[in-house]
Amino acid sequence: MDLRAVRGMNDILPEQVQRWHQLEADFRLHAELYGYAEVRTPLLEHTALFSRQMGETTDVVEKEMYSFERHGEQLTVRPEGTASAARAYVEHAIHAKEPITRWYYLGPMFRGERPAKGRYRQFYQAGCEVLGDAGPVCDAEMIDLVSSFLRRIGVPGVAIHVNSLGSAGTRARFRDELLKYFTPIRDRLSEDSQRRFERNPLRILDSKDPRDQEAAQGAPSILEMLDAEDAAHWKGFQHALDVLGLPYVVDPGLVRGLDYYTRTLFEVKAIGSDLGAQSTLLGGGRYDNMVESLGGPKVPAIGFAMGLERLLTVTPEPPARRGPGCYLAPIGAAAGDKALVLSRELRSFGVRVELDGRGARLKPMLRRADSLGSRFCIILGDAEIERGVITVKDLIGHAQEEIPLEGAARILADRVSEPAPESNHPRGNR
Ligand code: ATP
Ligand code: MG
Repeated sequence: MDLRAVRGMNDILPEQVQRWHQLEADFRLHAELYGYAEVRTPLLEHTALFSRQMGETTDVVEKEMYSFERHGEQLTVRPEGTASAARAYVEHAIHAKEPITRWYYLGPMFRGERPAKGRYRQFYQAGCEVLGDAGPVCDAEMIDLVSSFLRRIGVPGVAIHVNSLGSAGTRARFRDELLKYFTPIRDRLSEDSQRRFERNPLRILDSKDPRDQEAAQGAPSILEMLDAEDAAHWKGFQHALDVLGLPYVVDPGLVRGLDYYTRTLFEVKAIGSDLGAQSTLLGGGRYDNMVESLGGPKVPAIGFAMGLERLLTVTPEPPARRGPGCYLAPIGAAAGDKALVLSRELRSFGVRVELDGRGARLKPMLRRADSLGSRFCIILGDAEIERGVITVKDLIGHAQEEIPLEGAARILADRVSEPAPESNHPRGNR
């Protein structure tokens, strides 16, 4: 039996986790800067939540969801965060408590699609949702949040694609136009597109199959079909983007993979990355009808989600984590006891400590202290303990001295927080 990790699901080992922490912390800070608060919803939801909101004929619902029956309930491990957030919003009647809600979330999503670089079966998303604001300025501010975040984390180049899908009436007229356009060339489409042709021709525009992309070359543009209100919203959105000085590409072919979108739609792609078909870092849009369709009042909303694996691929590697402030190397039984107590004291001063409890000889302990990048190696020998001293070896400044064991923790804590020679790390190895 093969007991490796499930295909498309990755372990994140400690040396990588540091980057994840940083990215997540940056995201939280940034979202809070814009007034968002975190919401945490369950990993499991009723299957119907996703199949109804995301659309029965979307790729995610048709073939990518992890769904199963348990205790008489049809359940799905969440493939995305928006439907869950909207469900929680309705369930807790948030609209009655505040006129505008800004939520963000962070966590794993699950989709059984074909794994590739930047495409996994368990992947992590961070996203934001605003509920209760229908205006186009809100949409532009969301693009601003996204673009300043990407700048903050050091993503080198991005292209912001925007489009409008209009409201329900516009979409229905667009659907008819698409049917008219694709009918004569139907047999040139991919099998998937032919199968769901009548039910959802918009899907053809979002397909990654080259046959569909080719056939969609001359497809009608939804932007020419917007009604007066949709057009005013679309114009207001672009105006606010211009006020903010945000560059963008109008992309009438942008429809995105889910059915719940209305009006504003956007996607941000990495330029010059080696992500290929996975270069879309994030996507989002308005979903003005979802709250109502979940049994809530008519509350407009907009949101986006970004893939954290893809972000990590396009951001620079940070410098390696520095080693502990003190590496404790006791030689002998009495020294071992003193080292145990000293470690605890040092940690109470906030010093990162590793205690070598292997009972090893000095050389391998020093080697380990060095390879960890420790600031100091503290050598405790039984003979020194008898004299009431310990040896402090400065592994960066390459000096060595004895200090009294009594009060050593405070002295070492002070030294660790001083910058090391030839080190520009402001806080040392603290
Ligand atoms: P794609 O077009 O790449 O399939 P999508 O339209 O399915 O993306 P959304 O559902 O809008 O994507 O999700 C938003 C973001 O989440 C994507 O832009 C991407 O960064 C990330 N994402 C989506 N699916 C995956 C996946 N299987 N593995 C890794 N990241 C993903
Ligand atoms: Mg997808």
